[in-house]
Amino acid sequence: MSRPQQITVLGATGSIGLSTLDVIGRHPERYQVFALSGFTRLSELLALCIRHAPRFAVVPEAAVAQGLQDDLRAAGLQTRVLVGEEGLCQVASDPEVDAVMAAIVGAAGLRPTLAAVEAGKKILLANKEALVMSGALFMQAVRKSGSVLLPIDSEHNAIFQCMPRDFSRGLGVVGVRRILLTASGGPFRQTPLEELVHVTPEQACAHPNWSMGRKISVDSASMMNKGLELIEACWLFDARPSQVEVVIHPQSVIHSLVDYVDGSVLAQLGNPDMRTPIANALAWPERIDSGVAPLDLFAIARLDFQAPDEQRFPCLRLARQAAEAGDSAPAMLNAANEVAVAAFLDGRVRYLEIASIIEEVLNLQAVVSLDDLDAVFTVDARARELAGQWLRRHGR
Ligand code: NDP
Ligand code: MG
Repeated sequence: MSRPQQITVLGATGSIGLSTLDVIGRHPERYQVFALSGFTRLSELLALCIRHAPRFAVVPEAAVAQGLQDDLRAAGLQTRVLVGEEGLCQVASDPEVDAVMAAIVGAAGLRPTLAAVEAGKKILLANKEALVMSGALFMQAVRKSGSVLLPIDSEHNAIFQCMPRDFSRGLGVVGVRRILLTASGGPFRQTPLEELVHVTPEQACAHPNWSMGRKISVDSASMMNKGLELIEACWLFDARPSQVEVVIHPQSVIHSLVDYVDGSVLAQLGNPDMRTPIANALAWPERIDSGVAPLDLFAIARLDFQAPDEQRFPCLRLARQAAEAGDSAPAMLNAANEVAVAAFLDGRVRYLEIASIIEEVLNLQAVVSLDDLDAVFTVDARARELAGQWLRRHGR
């Protein structure tokens, strides 16, 4: 039997990281953990290292590295602790690594994910923000290195499963009319509009179907998540924004659909559990057990669909505008959203102000072309500065 594949999990202490390790743990003959990273939850990182005995663990700064190194040694482990973005890039591109799970949240995941792409690794992409920020450069790097890019986002993984293998020839060429991107509508799908002004971070994070990290939970409540996913879909499947339609489907059983010119519509269904797309991407093109229960259609009984309401979900409108503007607009949208969501989670801004902040940043910043990574981070920093100005002007 061939040697187990060596897997680096960036963002191991998060929701996707833990689900990934759950799937990996079910198949020790196929997968071995090469490296794990954490950021604030370092006691969890230690526990994960004890369970999976990786070669490397990565933490944000030297101040905490020594403590973890001592604890690992005391536990009898050989795991070496690396530090910061340099450490993340090292474990993402190490010659021994076969696949990298990119599950750091937000812009912080971009450089390590790109390091994995440039090293030609198999990329399991959960960190959609990386692709939203730098889509053209990212996809160019994928083509250059020959890296295999597999979507973890449940919708994109569903679309990937419903697409013909040769979709890269062009959607029109392979007979795809459009992509139908499903959305649950989140916790505020039916909340009276006048109540949205009062909603709290706890309410925003209480997703009806999925258990996720706090940032993506707020993005799901505002439907910015679907906006980021629209941009993500355009890059992954070489689609125009007008070829991607968002469909609210509150049960989250159909994870997305592909509509073909002959009238066929292919969908992927499953229980809302991220271990399904993770197992699909890990084993692709084979299939492995993910631990997810079989779908019980009789218990589900019905599937509903509705069009999204842009008055209720202004972030979706802003994201579609950014997708259509292209170039630096998605990076600006993403950075402004990261600042606004962090401020909302800290109790400094109200839920409805998230969209106001993003709209102001998009209006104040000119769209420019992004020729290299420095240009991406310059735009990102400027958008954060403008969002910070909004906060200061409003005394937050
Ligand atoms: P979590 O917040 O649960 O986890 C985020 C991970 O990133 C944690 O390991 C965290 O470390 C680490 N991290 C946070 N900030 C930094 C930083 N500045 N530098 C390095 N590491 C950092 O998020 P999720 O797992 O929910 O989401 C991860 C990514 O996957 C996101 O991009 C999200 O959009 C995407 N995704 C998630 C889905 C889900 O169901 N959860 C579904 C589809 C996509 P620590 O916890 O130690 O602080
Ligand atoms: Mg998704």
